[in-house]
Amino acid sequence: MLFKFLDSAVFAYSGAAVKIPHFRNQGPRREQRPENPSTAAPATNFIRNIIDADLAAGKHAQRRWSGQPGLGDQQQAGDLDAARIRTRFPPEPNGYLHFGHAKSICLNFGLANDYGGRCHLRFDDTNPEKEEKEYVDSIIDAVHWLGFSWQDDVENNLYFASDYFDWMVACAESLIQTGNAYVDSQSADEMRIGRGTLTQAGLDSPCRHRSIEENMDLFRRMQAGEFPDGAYILRAKIDMASPNINLRDPAIYRIRHATHHNTGDKWCVYPMYTFAHPIEDALENITHSICTLEFEDQRPFYDWLLERLAEANLFQRPLPQQIEFSRLNLSYVVLSKRKLIQLVEEKHVNGWDDPRMPTLVGARRRGYTPEGFRLFAERVGVSKSDSLIEYTLLEEAMREVMNETAERRIAVLDPLKLIIDNYPEGQREDCFAPNHPLKPELGKRAMPLGRELWIEREDFMEVPSKGYRRLYPGNRVRLRYGFVVECSGCDKDANGEIIAVHCHYLPDSKSGSPGADNYKVKGNLHWVSVAHGHQADVRLYDRLFSTPAPGGRREGDAPDLERDFLDDLNPDSVVLVKAWLEPSLRLARAEDRFQFERHGYFVADRFDSKDGAPVFNRSVTLKDSLAKNT
Ligand code: ATP
Ligand code: MG
Repeated sequence: MLFKFLDSAVFAYSGAAVKIPHFRNQGPRREQRPENPSTAAPATNFIRNIIDADLAAGKHAQRRWSGQPGLGDQQQAGDLDAARIRTRFPPEPNGYLHFGHAKSICLNFGLANDYGGRCHLRFDDTNPEKEEKEYVDSIIDAVHWLGFSWQDDVENNLYFASDYFDWMVACAESLIQTGNAYVDSQSADEMRIGRGTLTQAGLDSPCRHRSIEENMDLFRRMQAGEFPDGAYILRAKIDMASPNINLRDPAIYRIRHATHHNTGDKWCVYPMYTFAHPIEDALENITHSICTLEFEDQRPFYDWLLERLAEANLFQRPLPQQIEFSRLNLSYVVLSKRKLIQLVEEKHVNGWDDPRMPTLVGARRRGYTPEGFRLFAERVGVSKSDSLIEYTLLEEAMREVMNETAERRIAVLDPLKLIIDNYPEGQREDCFAPNHPLKPELGKRAMPLGRELWIEREDFMEVPSKGYRRLYPGNRVRLRYGFVVECSGCDKDANGEIIAVHCHYLPDSKSGSPGADNYKVKGNLHWVSVAHGHQADVRLYDRLFSTPAPGGRREGDAPDLERDFLDDLNPDSVVLVKAWLEPSLRLARAEDRFQFERHGYFVADRFDSKDGAPVFNRSVTLKDSLAKNT
């Protein structure tokens, strides 16, 4: 089931959740969006409510912090924790971060910033097989890029869970000592059967009654490497009849003869994720441990485990509290790591940082901004209900930020030559274009105009369609920031293809001159001088998938039909053009962002741009209403 989150789809926006009908198996998916995204103030939400209540009650006020992760006695010897709350972002370094992680980063770091707290960056690298240094570096980069930090003069909260293995083993041994864990020697199959089902209670393992001494001996020998993988496993002793299957004596430590990237061959036992995570939180004094909804059923175990360890005086109270929110699902996007890997490995995209990928490295290359992600995260808010967020909400956030910050420039993406017949050959004069219409303080730049210009092919029609306001024989338009010109005809090649347009200009009509107001024209065309502009590679990116739910069902599908998300790849997700750019763009440096008037927001590619020869990626188009408004 690919889109099970749509079962009870709720659109959550700035904390206000609005029920929408569930639309699984109902053909094309309708998307829901807020009425008025730009006016919403940062709203409160259920997580903030919990934090507010905790702070009001002084719940965490007596916690002590030694300045480093550690067990309760170490923390107790420290000062009162100056951080009012502690959150964490705990990625597994086994892939590149995607848009969903951005939401989690903005949430966790944002809350810590807002509440005078701290957010830790913790690599959850307890699994020996999968993690790689390359991912650690890229995650560090991505969190920084989004504008967050875990470090200042006082604290540096960058941690690796694999540094905690000694403490984790101590916790496991404590559970054994208190009769709360046992070593099981059943096979994996026997244990699976013994676990029971949703409707049937599990069966006690025959190993459940081993003595504490025997359990301790076996666990020590597991650590010493006496047994092969899978021969024994350490289980929590809770309740095989619990309605929550996660409480039916879950596995907590397994034998794995594997080399770990951090601890090498020191260990041949490794903790299970559900055991390690609560302990990592407690060691780091985390107050609010925010995770996605699929961990909701694990919360009883999270609490059980930390309670047992606090009873054994391993951790101070109050213990961290797990809070779940719904993960980000975006229309037109896949966020599953497995699918992202497939896109890269099967070369449907050019690597993890392909500008079409929903990874943060991809987004950065595409020209998306950290501010845009933060704005987006604030707008989608947090909720407890699964929802599908419309991709345009992300695009709008990016647009809004770039509209404020990006300087305006002129680029002709589909060039057609315009010849001003009455303009002297070899002459040049400057026209002055504002760098930002809303920010006069950013000044103007000179755009040289000459006898021959490039205009967009679509800006001329030999026989105009109804309502067409641009160039056609006999019509007058303004060359943006320049003169009014009147079209006199065009040249064609042997195939009838239009190769040049002719016009004459009205010398007293120059923008900014007193005569400019004498002419009222409806069309306003952008242009680049043939003699002064330069050609550049420009990539016009569009969505990677052409349907809102890639791989999702469509109307009329047979009930058993499974679609492949790759079938929904958009064949036109990138179009390469040789554009003509105004002269000042030659100086653009990697990652400079601009609005190309009428075309959208573009960024100079951070890897392919050379000095004096930038290559541009389209980040996002202008709003349709603006794009058609000429
Ligand atoms: P996997 O579990 O398949 O390895 P993951 O996406 O959960 O992938 P993690 O590295 O475990 O990767 O995630 C780090 C943090 O990011 C977790 O706290 C997780 O809850 C959060 N996160 C991951 N995906 C999303 C998402 N789509 N929306 C919000 N938060 C997410
Ligand atoms: Mg995960």
